[in-house]
Amino acid sequence: MLSYRHSFHAGNPADVIKHLVLAQVLGYQTIKDKPLDYIDTHSGAGFFELAADDAQKTQEYLDGIAKLWQHHSEQAALNDYIALIKAFNTDEQLAFYPGSPKIAEHFLRRQDNGWFFELHPRDLALLNGNMQGKRSIRVRGENGFQGLLGLLPPASRRACVLIDPPYEIKDDYETVVNTLIKAYKRFATGTYMVWYPVVERARIDKMEADLIASGIRNIQLFELATQGDTDVHGMTASGMIVINPPWKLKQTMDAVLPELVALLSQASGFYRSEQLVDE
Ligand code: SAM
Repeated sequence: MLSYRHSFHAGNPADVIKHLVLAQVLGYQTIKDKPLDYIDTHSGAGFFELAADDAQKTQEYLDGIAKLWQHHSEQAALNDYIALIKAFNTDEQLAFYPGSPKIAEHFLRRQDNGWFFELHPRDLALLNGNMQGKRSIRVRGENGFQGLLGLLPPASRRACVLIDPPYEIKDDYETVVNTLIKAYKRFATGTYMVWYPVVERARIDKMEADLIASGIRNIQLFELATQGDTDVHGMTASGMIVINPPWKLKQTMDAVLPELVALLSQASGFYRSEQLVDE
């Protein structure tokens, strides 16, 4: 039984780093005219109203996008992310936050395909409503891990994948690595992004070690910790692991992450920007 609903967390610091990386990768992948297949294995509802009960109950967006809303950075990537979220709002008022499906839709062109998987019945219905109108966009109420493997290799021979599970089932950590290994065997040149939470550091250490040992090449990791690691329950950091990243992504994140720490983290916060496995 799935209980996670992203509507409680939309726009929090974890969404900031996830969606900033997603926007950077999709921006780069859509420079070439050639068609692209984008696959979102865990889509959520796609679009969130911040005045709604769920978002107001936790108010997590106040620690994330709200702190960036009036910010002007020296870094184009951070300004572009803020401008992207502003494009979903009117009157310069922060009222809505787009999920990964709407962010992807913003970048996808006529020649591209978008595949969006979601299992929660209520979020699936919302996602269907939010993603209507484009022939090249398909929403599927199926398991995204299996759905991804069924789509590889893609007809376009170019794929960009986001794997963003809720990790409420502890097996998700292992399933992510096993799915990546299978996906990479079917299509080694795709760009794969995996979001992860740091609730227990040991789980992420294991995930990294398993990926390093997997034989997959060219893996980078970007993490934003709003607090130092702790044994007390709760998420203190989150990150994105990117396989076959765009060539300038690390340089961009090296510049943006210190600024995000300064804007969003407590004194014990930190960032990581690492090449886990070379090309
Ligand atoms: N990617 C979204 C975004 O950035 O806006 C947020 C996704 S949320 C973290 C994870 C979603 O995955 C939840 O809506 C949950 O219902 C869904 N889910 C959980 N297990 C799934 C599975 N095996 N296949 C597809 N969706 C799943």
